[in-house]
Amino acid sequence: MEKVIILRYAEIYLKGKNRGFFEKALENNLQRAIKDIPCELVRQNGRYLVRSFAEEDAETLVEKLKKVFGIHSISVGMETNSDLESILEGAKLVCRPNGTFKVESHRGDKSYPLTSVEISKKLGGMLLATFPKLEVDVHTPDVVVRVDIREHGKAFVFGDVQEGANGMPVGTAGKGLLLLSGGIDSPVAGYMMAKRGMKVDCLHFHSYPYTNMQAKEKVVELAHILSQYTCGTTLYTVSVTHIQEAIHEKCKPQFMITLLRRFMYRIAERHALKLGGQCIITGESLGQVASQTIEGMTSSNSVVEKLPVLRPLVGFDKNEIIDRSLAMGAYETSILPFEDCCTVFLPDFPAIRPKLDEIAKEEAKLDVEGLIEEAFQSVEKIKI
Ligand code: ATP
Ligand code: MG
Repeated sequence: MEKVIILRYAEIYLKGKNRGFFEKALENNLQRAIKDIPCELVRQNGRYLVRSFAEEDAETLVEKLKKVFGIHSISVGMETNSDLESILEGAKLVCRPNGTFKVESHRGDKSYPLTSVEISKKLGGMLLATFPKLEVDVHTPDVVVRVDIREHGKAFVFGDVQEGANGMPVGTAGKGLLLLSGGIDSPVAGYMMAKRGMKVDCLHFHSYPYTNMQAKEKVVELAHILSQYTCGTTLYTVSVTHIQEAIHEKCKPQFMITLLRRFMYRIAERHALKLGGQCIITGESLGQVASQTIEGMTSSNSVVEKLPVLRPLVGFDKNEIIDRSLAMGAYETSILPFEDCCTVFLPDFPAIRPKLDEIAKEEAKLDVEGLIEEAFQSVEKIKI
């Protein structure tokens, strides 16, 4: 008998011919997630098993596995021989000695001599005989003892079924470049694209020395949190200090944000193309702030020529975004009070519905190409 972690697939199940491709990606990502802990990962009849780990590592393993997209559910249980005596030994570890329980059985191996109902009945009786204070409750039991009879004379016995991260394995849906600010929204946007299988790299704009080193450390930390879900990431940082100074000097103050965003999007597209990225991802949500009106989005979108801009949060309320930020473990870091570059030179009254011709007129006052080229001189690469 051995303690094992059972991992069940999420949506991959729906994949027909190219299921192998998804399974391979999932397996790589699982291996990567648990590589620091001695254990063994095996694929077995449409599920994965983690085995040969130390008892004290079980919880850490589960926490790491819960962050791998493509897994529907996770159970910690015992792998036993499939005779009822052996199953009982496993069930004793899953069940409590008092309170209520029920047994649910499933036969993966249809040649097993008992039906699933018979297994549940017999094992239930054996548990009652073992733990005199235990009672059966088929409706709302304290513990459900689950038995899964597998091929080759083996069985799994487990209690809880924990929710996995669901989604698709990262690496099966192309690659995007996430505009990662220090806020709440963009890490969640990256999380959501990774959940659909996209590989995500990050690009952050800073205005050092107007913004301090702590602001940068905060973004590095956010990239680190995100990387637990994206199977690693690379964070690129670019200085927009001179761009902001130029806008501040030459253009009407209400266009600061609009113009800066257009620079960000241009730089993002060029950088993404260099990396082989196939889209730009942002944390914009319609109407959340002045620059996120449809007019604001049109203005920034119109400078992007080749790639789609994906905004996975566009229809989300702030509260929904916060819930996701909390769930992914980014919220505490996101709310640290260090300035993002956008708050430097922030106008009192930003243009809420900027018109493209007005923007173009302001932008004509700037050496757009020269400023972008200069910004690219400042690229820093941080492997997370
Ligand atoms: P967030 O919480 O993600 O910072 P926000 O509500 O503060 O978003 P904005 O500041 O308008 O909204 O930014 C909208 C999106 O633009 C962000 O979600 C992010 O994708 C991108 N962005 C904003 N500032 C930066 C930055 N300094 N570096 C990289 N991307 C940025
Ligand atoms: Mg922000």
